[in-house]
Amino acid sequence: MKALVKAKPEPGLWLQDVPEPKYGPADVLIKIRKTAICGTDLHIYNWDAWSQKTIKTPMVIGHEFVGEVVAVGAAVKNFRPGQRVSGEGHLTCGKCRSCRAGKRHLCIDTHGVGVNRIGCFTELLVIPEINVYPVPDNLEDDIAAIMDPFGNAAHTALSFDLVGEDVIITGAGPIGIMAATIAKRIGARHVVITDVNDYRLNLAKSLASVRAVNVARESLSDIQNELGMMQGFDVGMEMSGVPSAFDQMLESMNHGGKIAMLGIFSQKPLLNSDLVIFKSLTLKGIYGREMFETWYKMISLVQSGLDIAPIITHRFDVDDFQKGFDVMNSGQSGKVILNWGE
Ligand code: NAD
Ligand code: ZN
Repeated sequence: MKALVKAKPEPGLWLQDVPEPKYGPADVLIKIRKTAICGTDLHIYNWDAWSQKTIKTPMVIGHEFVGEVVAVGAAVKNFRPGQRVSGEGHLTCGKCRSCRAGKRHLCIDTHGVGVNRIGCFTELLVIPEINVYPVPDNLEDDIAAIMDPFGNAAHTALSFDLVGEDVIITGAGPIGIMAATIAKRIGARHVVITDVNDYRLNLAKSLASVRAVNVARESLSDIQNELGMMQGFDVGMEMSGVPSAFDQMLESMNHGGKIAMLGIFSQKPLLNSDLVIFKSLTLKGIYGREMFETWYKMISLVQSGLDIAPIITHRFDVDDFQKGFDVMNSGQSGKVILNWGE
């Protein structure tokens, strides 16, 4: 079967023939229909420092998908062939204190699909039943394929009460934009999203009524004055992974403000602890999605009318995967879908 493989420790990805996977009694075998390219896949494609220390080649990558169950292990109870599914890409140990307390997102020994084990950029994927999530009939394939990053957005955006609050989101990547749509939907007052990329800021504006700010040209304090905000932002979501963006966020927060941090910094930020302390800020790190409360909430948000479809800007057949990675690398895209066939 076909798979997109990080075959060699150098930039690039290779479409190769790989053996079909075997599945165990607690596993589900899924025929992949659509996958989406994550920023993580792009890091692996580009073979940056993080990938070099994390990925053991050869590795089939990818972790954002929708597909159809084709077979289940003997012990699987809740899935049957023909069912449309997506799945949680974080495999947790089941043994640590967090897992046993039902807080699997806090597992101390998480393994990632397409990072530490075979990923979904292939025709057949095996994951444990506990990680499979059923897709409701009224959720289209494209949306089901981006549940993973949408879940990152939802987990972050639902971390703090946003009703009536002024929110700043640093980074208008796909996840930042989806978080902005959620913040507006659930009742934030002003939502300001920052970036240095006009394509992405325009995409953010087309999805939600947010104030999109190019911080290369505009200052956040001017925007705060323009919006009549007297004291600063109540809630921040860091979704850029850029230290200077995080600095700007700390500067612009209200006293008692709350910040959820999702962006992964390629260079460690120099935390201005004075701002954290004297503003009495609360910082919360976000890793992945809550299993499976985030999944429940994000699907309910779509079912209740939240439209995230425009975040998908490009679609390619997997044979044209190169075009997908090129457009991602250009920064002129939202989510990019790869089709693997019906
Ligand atoms: P992305 O790289 O597409 O988006 C980041 C955006 O930040 C880009 O649009 C970039 O132009 C922008 N940016 C650059 N400099 C900026 C600045 N000075 N101010 C504001 N914005 C600036 O990433 P994404 O896929 O949307 O993911 C968002 C972040 O979350 C990334 O850092 C990613 O690695 C991270 N992430 C974390 C988790 C987790 O579990 N914690 C999961 C997925 C992604
Ligand atoms: Zn665990």
